[in-house]
Amino acid sequence: MSLDRPLTRNVRADRSPTDMAAYEANGGYQGLKAAVGKLSPADCLEILKDSNLRGRGGAGFPTGMKWSFVPMGDKCSPGDKYLICNADEMEPGTFKDRLLLECDPHQLIEGMIVAAYTLQANVAYIFIRAEYFKAAALLREAIAACHQKNYLGNNILGSDYSLEIHIHASAGRYICGEETALISSLEGKRANPRAKPPFPQVSGLWGRPTIVNNVETLCNVHHIIERGADWFKSLGLTEDAGTKMYGVSGRVKRPGCWELPMGTPVREILEEYAGGMADGYSLKGFLPGGGSTDFLVGEHLDLAMDYETIGKAGSRMGTGTMIILDDKTCPVGFVKNLIEFFARESCGFCTPCRDGLPWSAQVLDDIQHGRGRDEDMDTLARQVKFIGAIGNTHCALAPGAMEPLQSAMKYFPEAFEQHIQGSCRHCSGGGH
Ligand code: NAD
Repeated sequence: MSLDRPLTRNVRADRSPTDMAAYEANGGYQGLKAAVGKLSPADCLEILKDSNLRGRGGAGFPTGMKWSFVPMGDKCSPGDKYLICNADEMEPGTFKDRLLLECDPHQLIEGMIVAAYTLQANVAYIFIRAEYFKAAALLREAIAACHQKNYLGNNILGSDYSLEIHIHASAGRYICGEETALISSLEGKRANPRAKPPFPQVSGLWGRPTIVNNVETLCNVHHIIERGADWFKSLGLTEDAGTKMYGVSGRVKRPGCWELPMGTPVREILEEYAGGMADGYSLKGFLPGGGSTDFLVGEHLDLAMDYETIGKAGSRMGTGTMIILDDKTCPVGFVKNLIEFFARESCGFCTPCRDGLPWSAQVLDDIQHGRGRDEDMDTLARQVKFIGAIGNTHCALAPGAMEPLQSAMKYFPEAFEQHIQGSCRHCSGGGH
């Protein structure tokens, strides 16, 4: 049976990704035509809520619920509302949005038009990772083509709804992807996260109601409005609806990114799509959804990759892009590399993150390079407990950084112990 893969239906090597005629010939902009001026914003919101779409940026927050927090009609004070597409894809091991942006920019634009219409926002931004200049150029082309067709601009398709979409290149920091830091950055300020509440849905860009959604989330919106909530729910294999852009990186035969039904088993993604482990390597563990998720191991291979199941197993699906740890790579060095990344990317606002992450990285470096002591494991355990607790830090960056560390200590304690005793099996055996 062929799979329904709405998000990648236009991913083809034989045509330009910005070819408007080809996009329309394959059903493109039908979602916009079904929504703008035809359905009320309230109807669109009901369909979205019913669809059970959850945010694809990593947290999996229900999209319809998030949108319903935006004050509408009489409840909203006069002034603008904003939609922001978070295209600041910087989670380690994550490259799914890049594929969607570079292969089908019109899909994102159409999703954003329908989303902005639902929210009655007249201005939208695409906040894009600085290095994604190819994607930014394609998006600019797609936006210009939409103006020609009156899919953007004033009175879209003769309706009383108008929308402009602007592209803003990120300043190039991981923290810019945190929604409130992103908003600070867009306002021209230093990209420090803000305390929540108030959530951006109520007070976001310039203090106005703002929705920030990930690229993949927005790419789903017009498909759902056009084809209905039941269709979307039918795509998933488990409770979580839709399809998902899954990815695999590490020592596998075919690293890559695939759109599959939500809830596809981990083993199927790893063995059928990524081709299994590369010759000479076996699986030691995997981070299910980027560098800020907890390790899972072989006993979890038959789990469904969805928010609920991976959450119950003690990790998070996160971005859905797995990073594989093989048997020849030292878990201590692997985790240290991640912690160093997060330490470098900290905004420096709160002490546990600014000072705690470099400290954790230093302890790991000592352990890795033969300077470790038994009490270092207690130090790391205390760090994990303190920095990893939500509420002790200003945002989720540092708790996220603790996830691979705490789970490496749980699943691979022998690697730490062997290092402290001076003989790591991975490192002495020519591992990485
Ligand atoms: P979060 O759970 O705090 O928020 C997720 C979304 O839900 C936000 O839009 C937030 O406004 C909304 N929300 C949450 N609780 C709410 C409430 N009570 N009321 C109203 N709205 C609410 O998560 P986060 O800090 O935004 O994101 C963390 C995730 O981001 C992690 O899972 C991580 O995997 C992921 N991440 C992804 C990337 C990437 O490149 N895609 C980069 C870094 C982090």
